Amino acid sequence: MGRGLSYGRSSAPRARGGEPEQLGFEGMPERLFVCTPSKLGAYADCPRRYRYSYVDRPAPPKGPPWAHNSLGASVHTALRNWYALPAERRQPEALPTLLKGTWVREGYRDEEQERAAYRRSLQWLESYVETLDPAVEPMGVERVVAVKTAVLAFNGRADRIDSRSGPDGPELAIVDYKTGRTGLDADDARGSQALALYAYAAERVFRRPCRRVELHHLPTGTVAAHDHTAESLARQVSRAEDTARDIVAAERAVADGADPDEAFPTAPGPICTWCDYRKSCPAGVSAPAKDPWAAIERSVTPTRDDE
Ligand code: SF4
Repeated sequence: MGRGLSYGRSSAPRARGGEPEQLGFEGMPERLFVCTPSKLGAYADCPRRYRYSYVDRPAPPKGPPWAHNSLGASVHTALRNWYALPAERRQPEALPTLLKGTWVREGYRDEEQERAAYRRSLQWLESYVETLDPAVEPMGVERVVAVKTAVLAFNGRADRIDSRSGPDGPELAIVDYKTGRTGLDADDARGSQALALYAYAAERVFRRPCRRVELHHLPTGTVAAHDHTAESLARQVSRAEDTARDIVAAERAVADGADPDEAFPTAPGPICTWCDYRKSCPAGVSAPAKDPWAAIERSVTPTRDDE
């Protein structure tokens, strides 16, 4: 067990009293846990998935690319490039070229399905940009924000950071684009640790209040929003720090000889069906298999408008 695994913290000091230490050697600066929202989310969803993604080297083979990831990446990049245009060229007519230029082809059943997905994505984008004022420059587009706490060195790339006027002056809002099948509600925005961490980091990077977080669901044209408080952001940061401590403790346990399968247990559930490591994972092999295009089948089914 554990052969071929590489645990980057094998020289880390032992945990005492069950708590991971932050100090390497006396007098040395604290070792912060470097993380992104995806890294924290992977562990929170399933410790074993975290291990496969970030610890095991070589990593186990992944399944084939998913069409929904290709579609999401294409739409995100098209929107980033839309904002890279001069304001006077941010018009719906620019979208077909932008989308073609960023289109990711992997995961679709065949060309017919891929074409339907392209047309549907273009419709989403056309409707979405109608809601945007081309003259308004966001504070950041796919902007990396980073912040350190006592435990974490967090960095993440926010889809968009808007500057808006609030009751007490300019304030920021975090915007995250979504292209999944199902709509989202305010609870999704409130509960998103990624959005909260972006807001916490953006407030410090730009030295402006950033409490508003929004999920923009392009297929339905809906916005799910939440206004955080300083306390609710602090709670999310504290939860992220707890996750980081758990990860460090698991990695350290393995470095100290624990069985990696026990230190990073599986957490089987519906997510296994969509997990890239399903075929490599003892708990995932029994999860129902889906075609790489299964998640987009309904959302891109051609309608009469497409004919
Ligand atoms: S298949 Fe399921 S249990 Fe296995 S790593 Fe993926 S999410 Fe975790």
